[in-house]
Amino acid sequence: MSAERNKLNVLAASASMVAAVLAGTSSAAQAPTQNQYLPLSNYLPPLDVQPPHFRRIELDGVRNTSDFFDQVMLATSNRIFRFNVMPIPVYIQPNQAGYVTAVKKALETWENRTNSMIKFAPAASQQQARITVIWSHLGIPPDRSVTEFGAHTITEWKVKTGPFASQKTGTVNPQIIEVNLDVIDPRDADHKLPLLQNLVTHELGHALGLMGHSPERGDMMFKDTDEYSRISQRDLNTLQKIYSRKCDFPL
Ligand SMILES: [Zn+2]
Repeated sequence: MSAERNKLNVLAASASMVAAVLAGTSSAAQAPTQNQYLPLSNYLPPLDVQPPHFRRIELDGVRNTSDFFDQVMLATSNRIFRFNVMPIPVYIQPNQAGYVTAVKKALETWENRTNSMIKFAPAASQQQARITVIWSHLGIPPDRSVTEFGAHTITEWKVKTGPFASQKTGTVNPQIIEVNLDVIDPRDADHKLPLLQNLVTHELGHALGLMGHSPERGDMMFKDTDEYSRISQRDLNTLQKIYSRKCDFPL
C-alpha cells in the first residue's frame, strides 16, 4: 500500500490475448507440387505465389515486459524519485526484538538483492533519518484483506516553483513507513515475522522510488503482499532503470 493517491489503471495481462495470426493464403493449398522435393537451397517459389507470413499482435498492457517502469512513471507523472546518496539513514522505532529484526532483514534483503547498489545505515535518531519505521494500531476494516492494511508509506513531496510551467524537480520530506500492529500481532508465531518482513520490504520498495504498483502477482511491488512474496528480477530491473536515470526528486 502507498499513501500517494495516484490510482493506476492497469490493463489485465493475458497471455492468451497474444496471438500469432496467419495472414494471406494457405501454403499447403498453393505449394507448387513440381518443386516440393527439391532441396531447400534450390527452391524458388514461382512469382505468383506469396509466401505466408506471420504477424505478431501485441496489445497495450499485454506484453510480458521485464520491468514495470511504465507503471512507476504513470504513478509519478514521469518524474524520477530516488536516493542520490548512499547509505540511506534509517531509524527504527523501538519495539520487541523479533519485530525490529524483521525490519532489519527487510533492509538487508534490498541490499543483497541489489548487490549493494542500495545501502542502508542506522540513524541515531528520527531527526537524522530519511526513512523511519513506526508502529501503530490502525485497526482493520471488517470487509478488507488484512495484508492490504499491514503497512503504508507516507511520502510527502512538493514541486519546486520555477519560471517554467514544466518544472519537474522538487523536494521530498523524510519518509515514514507505518506498520499496523493490528495486522501483525494476532498472527500465529510462524507467520507473523515473515509477513512483517515482507510488508516492510514492499514499503521500502515504495520508499526507494518504486511508486505505484506492479500488475504482476509475482513481484514484490504487486499491490498485495503476504509471507511468501519475494523481490523478483522485474522489481530489480525496474529499480535499476530508476537509479540509472537523472534524479528529479531526491529522496
Ligand atoms: Zn504498496
